[in-house]
Amino acid sequence: GGTVHQIQSGQVIVDLCSVVKELVENSLDAGATSVDVRFKNQGLDAIEVQDNGDGISPHNYETLALKHHTSKLSTYADLTTLQTFGFRGEALSSLCALSKFSVVTCLAADAPKGTRLDFATSGKLTDTSVVAAQKGTTVSVENLFNNLPVRRRELERNIKREWGKVVGVLGQYACIQTGIKFSVSQQAGKGKKTTLFSTKGNSSTRENIVNVFGAKTLTALIGLDLNLELEATSAPSQRWSTQEDGGKKDIRIVGHISRPASSERQTPDRQMFFVNARPCGLPQVAKAFNEVYKSYSGWGSTQSPFIFANIELDTHLYDVNVSPDKRTILLHDQNRMLETLKEELTALFESQDY
Ligand code: ADP
Ligand code: MG
Repeated sequence: GGTVHQIQSGQVIVDLCSVVKELVENSLDAGATSVDVRFKNQGLDAIEVQDNGDGISPHNYETLALKHHTSKLSTYADLTTLQTFGFRGEALSSLCALSKFSVVTCLAADAPKGTRLDFATSGKLTDTSVVAAQKGTTVSVENLFNNLPVRRRELERNIKREWGKVVGVLGQYACIQTGIKFSVSQQAGKGKKTTLFSTKGNSSTRENIVNVFGAKTLTALIGLDLNLELEATSAPSQRWSTQEDGGKKDIRIVGHISRPASSERQTPDRQMFFVNARPCGLPQVAKAFNEVYKSYSGWGSTQSPFIFANIELDTHLYDVNVSPDKRTILLHDQNRMLETLKEELTALFESQDY
């Protein structure tokens, strides 16, 4: 039933940002080293994500956009690693119900001949045709929410805020994915296409941050490199680091943070957190960082640091809570982890000369 499908789909794809996230993650899943994201009218007219990943095999065409169809279960042995990829087989199916949706895909062996796939709102494949294409996949989402008038109006009304969120989250993917060339562009009306930012395929997070956030002053803001090692849990039985491996710690936090009390003007809201390179909000972790930073900058200080922190840890040390409208990450034994984080961060700041 179309209506039921549309309403249910509205729970997976809640806004512009979730569309972009799902499509970019699909490109990452496909092993892309280049991801090009193009918007028309800030996504109100069209969102296109082009990658140079593996492409889609013809035997997956029919089922591609059917609910709960995923090609990924067979390719990843460990179910726990699957968690990080979000909703299983629901993104494309939802997008069919919520937009004019089409795909062009091309396997390496077939280039420069690709296949265009068109789908009905039910997710049923309605048409295929041969088109020129390079290896990879381009997914196109036009007129998002056009068949859900209330949601469409809401999107149009909030487009400024939504757009800010979209650009922010794309910037995060672009910064953390050092092996991927990202490019984001936008075209207003019939105007010229403008590139918002682009990164190089083989760069450091530091270079990416400068490319995405532009300002030269940011190089000053990201003064300190983070490379903290923490123990995840107090329960020895759960530790995969044992004495035999020389006390290897099970959590690493890598990234950048501004120097405390640095005289440069700080940019608030430039705090980005990742778990295994997936952007996510971690309010408790953010609070721990800001507390230690403040105690070094003086409590009267209104400055908040630039933070870019990727928490690398084994998937058995956290849960991804996939509720219909958001993904939250729950770190096991979080309080202990936060305590050791504060200690390590304090030690880092102590070791600096001001
Ligand atoms: P999921 O990512 O959970 O598998 P999706 O609805 O996002 O579900 O995608 C459905 C399927 O479509 C994927 O399992 C994958 O096989 C295929 N797919 C989607 N996007 C791409 C892409 N950019 N490149 C290659 N295959 C893709
Ligand atoms: Mg997906």
